[in-house]
Amino acid sequence: MTPLSALQKYFGYSAFRHQQEAIIEHVLNKQDVMALMPTGGGKSLCYQLPAVLLNGLTIVISPLIALMKDQVYSLNVTGIPAAFLNSAQNPEEQRQLVEKLRNNQIKLLYLAPERLFGNENKLVPFLKTLNVVQIAIDEAHCISSWGHDFRPEYLMLAQLKVEFPDVPVIALTATADKLTQKDILEKLNLKNPAVFVSSFNRANINYKVVPKKNSFKQLIGFLNERKDESGIIYCLSRKSTEALAEDLKEEGFAAEAYHAGLNNEVKARNQEAFLRDDVKIMVATIAFGMGINKSNVRYVVHIDLPKNIEGYYQETGRAGRDGLASEALLLYSPGDAGKLQHFARIDGNEEQSRIMLNKLNDMVKYCQLQSCRRQYLMNYFDEAFPPNCGSCDVCLTEFKRFDGTLIAQKALSAVARLNERFGVNYVIDFLRGSKTEKIREEHKLLKTYGIGADISKTDWQRYIRELITTGYLQMGGQEYPILNLTPQSQAVLKGLQKVEFIESEVTEDAHINEPAPPHEAELLSRLKTVRHGIAELENVPAYIIVSDATLLEMAT
Ligand code: ADP
Ligand code: MG
Ligand code: ZN
Repeated sequence: MTPLSALQKYFGYSAFRHQQEAIIEHVLNKQDVMALMPTGGGKSLCYQLPAVLLNGLTIVISPLIALMKDQVYSLNVTGIPAAFLNSAQNPEEQRQLVEKLRNNQIKLLYLAPERLFGNENKLVPFLKTLNVVQIAIDEAHCISSWGHDFRPEYLMLAQLKVEFPDVPVIALTATADKLTQKDILEKLNLKNPAVFVSSFNRANINYKVVPKKNSFKQLIGFLNERKDESGIIYCLSRKSTEALAEDLKEEGFAAEAYHAGLNNEVKARNQEAFLRDDVKIMVATIAFGMGINKSNVRYVVHIDLPKNIEGYYQETGRAGRDGLASEALLLYSPGDAGKLQHFARIDGNEEQSRIMLNKLNDMVKYCQLQSCRRQYLMNYFDEAFPPNCGSCDVCLTEFKRFDGTLIAQKALSAVARLNERFGVNYVIDFLRGSKTEKIREEHKLLKTYGIGADISKTDWQRYIRELITTGYLQMGGQEYPILNLTPQSQAVLKGLQKVEFIESEVTEDAHINEPAPPHEAELLSRLKTVRHGIAELENVPAYIIVSDATLLEMAT
């Protein structure tokens, strides 16, 4: 049977993804392989398919019991005999398993590394009596202390090549970190390994970052549009996962919490409920998700800022394993950045702090991007990518337009009302019904005064800039710049000409009647502390952009 026909027959997929086929061919040729593929890329198949084709036993090393259970279960469902060694098995069950292994009735045996090279070490001699044809090491980055999930028991796997010198080893990981990759190869002692690096782009995941304002309200809005879909919401703290899960339940959502502090029973129960779709939303810390193979996760929300791009990318990668369009939404607040900066400073030694701060800084940059987010992510992982993916929020913003005729009419009539005698800022103050004494006194009787109070100052600046570029307004004036109407203005004012504006995240909310923003002095007085450039704000409807530990800009 060819790999392709086995793929179709046993797994029901029509074609290979990424470099699956090449990887599988190497394994079938008894060569060592290291395969790097993004989360959800389809690594399991790279050893499961050879296991089906080869005449003998494949040993799979995996770090988590839950993970093994899940995989063994789905293999058995598709008719592939697989099993895992479990400390909970009683002697009778173990005897039966040994029997099956002896009779060549098991294709894949899943093991935790500590089982394989445990104290008594009776297992290796037994396995050597069997026909072992492949050894797969899943989540291979666990062997490296450079990686983000080091497990000391993985170090014992260096013994594998000594005990099974002729059996091909396939190491699999989603890590993109060069140092970790090198470490894996060295520690595992692979023989002339073929290294396969797949593109880390997850084309079916759409990345989006929005300013965090009222996170719960924003979240509900997002979830209401995805009522029957399954997703993960990542929070920074354990406490907030539980609180948020409760709040979501109250709103009628099927949500549960998951974090490392919960007892094993609760963790297992919640995880299984999520896998079975009884629970639609998992509210979790980063403790949740490694190796969770749930194909229909439609969205991953980061309600708090992740600490680095590596973690963020792995977590978002848990969406859309089935290849269907999925969302990665991040709620960004500079306050979160400040909080994490503070943690990074007090955490660990100076060198570690420095690395953490750099990584955090890259994460903040990602949130503040004015260019394609996917390109930034790919470049971060040393992969070239064209400047426009066409599906992240930044790329889409360029094309998303809305009917702004009414807004344009307001602006043009204000300019007309003011007899084309004032500059941009004055016109905006007039439109917004600014509290400035002078303007109020002069204009409060004019009907046009304050008709644009529902739009923020920054948005008005944007709109007016666009009206100038599109020729509905122009700059004039001798001594200082003044806004003038143009010959095209009349058509807009009479409703004969439509005007479109580009939509931006910030404006969406501004269409809702938002109270006029507080003045800068008031904002500053509400700014509690500014220390090391970290701004801690209290209920201030403002975005403070913290970058390179500097308070750069404050705008309403
Ligand atoms: P990884 O371990 O790389 O994170 P998995 O091995 O769990 O990813 O695979 C992710 C999903 O992709 C699974 O649901 C798997 O069944 C599916 N998959 C793998 N290979 C293919 C393929 N060639 N065609 C379609 N789906 C695939
Ligand atoms: Mg996997
Ligand atoms: Zn893009």
